[in-house]
Amino acid sequence: MKVIRIFGAPYSSTTVLGFIINTAPGFLFGSEIYRLLPAYTKRLNKPAICHFCGNMCNVWSPQLIKEIVSQNIKYVDETYAIFGKHNEQVQCLVDSSKAIDRYSGEAGNYIDLVASKHPIRLLSSHFYHRRKDFFGAEDAIDFEVFRKKLDECSDLVAKVANTVSREQYLRYEAIFTKLQSFTLLKNDNLHQANFARLRELEVFLGVKSESFDPINFSKYEAHTIGGNRMPSNQRSKYIGAKNQIHNPRIQYYETAESLGDFKIDDKYRIIFSPKTLSIVQKSTWYRRLCEQLSYNPWPN
Ligand SMILES: [Zn+2]
Repeated sequence: MKVIRIFGAPYSSTTVLGFIINTAPGFLFGSEIYRLLPAYTKRLNKPAICHFCGNMCNVWSPQLIKEIVSQNIKYVDETYAIFGKHNEQVQCLVDSSKAIDRYSGEAGNYIDLVASKHPIRLLSSHFYHRRKDFFGAEDAIDFEVFRKKLDECSDLVAKVANTVSREQYLRYEAIFTKLQSFTLLKNDNLHQANFARLRELEVFLGVKSESFDPINFSKYEAHTIGGNRMPSNQRSKYIGAKNQIHNPRIQYYETAESLGDFKIDDKYRIIFSPKTLSIVQKSTWYRRLCEQLSYNPWPN
């Protein structure tokens, strides 16, 4: 079994990339597999479970999960052999555990992808995630209300922009330094030229042309174990009534401009006023992050 490891910053669309690769025959996207590690499940006090099948999953079976939990596994790459033993039908497992320090550093049969997104997009998600810093509460807040609040907090915006950009810069630096070779994917450009970059990825991975189906990825069978949002149509099936919880981020993605299931993330245009945007763009670490990932600090 081969393994694709997806590295990158939080909110760099590693989940979408995983779901797209999941559409090719023989590929299985497991999402953030580090969430299976005993250290993580102990901290959360709940075992990992398939988002789609719950305990009834044939891929992430209770036996497989029990085997991983019962062993003293510290690093995510140490779970792959156990997974392969239980899932001989899977030719390539896709893991989006993202951070390099979740891996042992041992050599293995890996294809490494690094996902990025324009730092302004990373920051708009991070700002919203850290809304407690601005509002003192973690409750869901409508993007328009959040925009007004950020507009009133210039000093805090400058501070958070610098801190978050620095965190992400250091994360990418560790990834770039430690990986022997990797393919960099700018996920916010993936849809351009009729998904040309994905077609290149197919050639690179040795799969048949147009195996990936970015327009309909949520219609394929999926078994993800942790961390992220599943495609919204699957989510409402799985969560049912609980999906009614007010969440502006989910609402945004349901209405965002899209090519089928591939959503264009432009929520920074809603969250950041021109004033906030200019404060972010003056941040030293934001500019360094843009340079590191080869993005123009002034997005189009
Ligand atoms: Zn499942």
